[in-house]
Amino acid sequence: MDIPPPKMSSRKFNDWLKAERKKCYRQKDGKTYCRNCGSEVIYVRCYVSLHATELQDCAGTGEVEHIGLEFCEKCETIPTDIVRSCTHDSMFGSVGHTFFGSQ
Ligand SMILES: [Zn+2]
Ligand SMILES: [Zn+2]
Repeated sequence: MDIPPPKMSSRKFNDWLKAERKKCYRQKDGKTYCRNCGSEVIYVRCYVSLHATELQDCAGTGEVEHIGLEFCEKCETIPTDIVRSCTHDSMFGSVGHTFFGSQ
């Protein structure tokens, strides 16, 4: 999959992840495989900083979500380092930061 673009709302981020996963991979027996070549995916760590829309630029409480991003070793360029992205949500919104489910 691609690297998640920064500064999306957490809802958008989730939708983006879902769409990428659906587009690139398929599930079988609890494992994830590349749609293109059938290889089992590997996971790269991604740190998503939770930023606040009320603050200027990229700032927040310092909270970070750790998620795993799927990549195919055969078809995709694997990031060599930890991937970083961020989401921007209101500090006062009711949308909690309970997202990034893998399915
Ligand atoms: Zn592949
Ligand atoms: Zn940010």
